[in-house]
Amino acid sequence: KMNKRMVHIEFDAVSENESLARVVVSSITARLNPTIEQLNDIKTAVSEAVTNAVIHGYKNDEGIVAMDIDIDGNMVIIEIEDKGVGIEDVDKAMEPMYTTRPEDERSGMGFVFMEIFMDELKVESKPGEGTKLTMKKMIPR
Ligand code: ATP
Ligand code: MG
Repeated sequence: KMNKRMVHIEFDAVSENESLARVVVSSITARLNPTIEQLNDIKTAVSEAVTNAVIHGYKNDEGIVAMDIDIDGNMVIIEIEDKGVGIEDVDKAMEPMYTTRPEDERSGMGFVFMEIFMDELKVESKPGEGTKLTMKKMIPR
């Protein structure tokens, strides 16, 4: 059962593809009959993750974002990965209001929202190699 992938998609790192990621994740999660609120939480977390890959990972330059979605019982598991610049200090990056782009009105709350809206958030990153997020959320019956 490890590494089972129900859905794997790759798309260009452009902000227009945020909506694609949201639609795909909604469509898969719908199988668990989530509430509107649960669905919105997941879509928001996915948007934040994809935005980060586009603007921070690839600095709005070319790149590919990969998204894996799996359902394990009543849990949805989402992985979002970029091969961009990576994060030097993950703990620091995850602190509320920490941002490396204050000049373009970033508030440094993306990771905070992902943590609030999902049950679990794991961030793996290596400078120069990229960043992989794993997010999980239970959709109880
Ligand atoms: P906001 O999400 O509120 O617009 P933000 O994107 O700066 O602002 P977070 O999403 O919490 O805030 O991310 C914090 C910081 O972590 C970013 O400013 C950036 O330095 C770093 N970071 C986040 N995701 C990535 C990524 N995929 N690749 C490289 N750096 C990242
Ligand atoms: Mg962000």
